[in-house]
Amino acid sequence: MLDARQSHILSLLRRQGPLSRQQLHQAMKLRPNTVGQLVDGLIRAGLLCEGPPQPDGPGRPRVPLEIDPQRRQVVGLALQPGRVGLATFNLHGLRVGATRSSAAKPATIIDTAASLLRSVHLEPVVAIGVSSTGLVDERTHQLLLSSTTARVEPVSLQPLFDIAGSCPLILENDLQALAVQWLLTHEAEANDDILLISIRDGAVGAAVLVNGRPIRGCVTGGNELGHTRLPVQTPTCYCGHTGCLERICSSEFLHMQHNGDSNITLADAIERYRGDDGDLQQVIHLLGIGIGNAITLLRPRRVVLASEFNRCTAYTNALLEAIRRHMLSTLVERVRIDLWDRQSVEFADAAAWLALASIYNRLGADRV
Ligand SMILES: [Zn+2]
Repeated sequence: MLDARQSHILSLLRRQGPLSRQQLHQAMKLRPNTVGQLVDGLIRAGLLCEGPPQPDGPGRPRVPLEIDPQRRQVVGLALQPGRVGLATFNLHGLRVGATRSSAAKPATIIDTAASLLRSVHLEPVVAIGVSSTGLVDERTHQLLLSSTTARVEPVSLQPLFDIAGSCPLILENDLQALAVQWLLTHEAEANDDILLISIRDGAVGAAVLVNGRPIRGCVTGGNELGHTRLPVQTPTCYCGHTGCLERICSSEFLHMQHNGDSNITLADAIERYRGDDGDLQQVIHLLGIGIGNAITLLRPRRVVLASEFNRCTAYTNALLEAIRRHMLSTLVERVRIDLWDRQSVEFADAAAWLALASIYNRLGADRV
């Protein structure tokens, strides 16, 4: 793993673009020799490269250093219900090749993930991010409770760690990985306390960032958002209950309102919404209660709603209004709500950002 000063150099170059050794020395307040040694180590490791020298007044031309886009890579591996996805990124956060995906049954999901990871040439890989739905335990390398394995007892992820060998493997819940991706791609706004909420058909989840860093320990609290129970009849949730927010926010719930005599999807209903669909209005109202409650309890400075549904303006405005109506009124002015329009959530990409975050030193203090 990199030391904190090397991560700092990479972080500066990532945010500010190419810098010379002299500029790094000024920015970091380290002795020029120390900067030189750190930079040489990063160049040898394939993380940095030198650009063509730029004339810079009298004296030696300055040599711009930049993050090497070619020699090194990170890998993201995401375990989702029914499938495993794998993405490879360069150190600039650009995808290298196509994202790969394999269907997987709950009983064989770890084997499927292992064979996908085994097919990757690990030599240029500097870090591997692995994400899964549910609760993960990084210390014991286990999935404690996850919709991907559909089992109540823990499942070992050790086969993935064995394949990774000496390459660092960072394990997180899938929404924490998504929060890390948001953090790294919205760098300028990273120092807030943030509640990130992901809304999909049949899946509502959350992650919490404090001082711009994802915090573990709140994973449980975040995940519970989708399992906030409201007094309405819904299909039974995989957690065993009915009335869960993520069962309300689903096509199935819309079908139930018509005794199964409708096959409209949630996405279609949202697309067509002009304020006149009573069933969707009820979904929006109940989502507003659940999210409004979460904001009132956590009091973050900023809320990020991540959803492909955000591009539908009438629905989004109605949802924002419903959330504000159910928040503590003193928080309405104070909490900023941002919309992150994601065309499609690709958790393998988010897992790759998790690996990048380990290089750029943007994980929680306990993970550095
Ligand atoms: Zn539930």
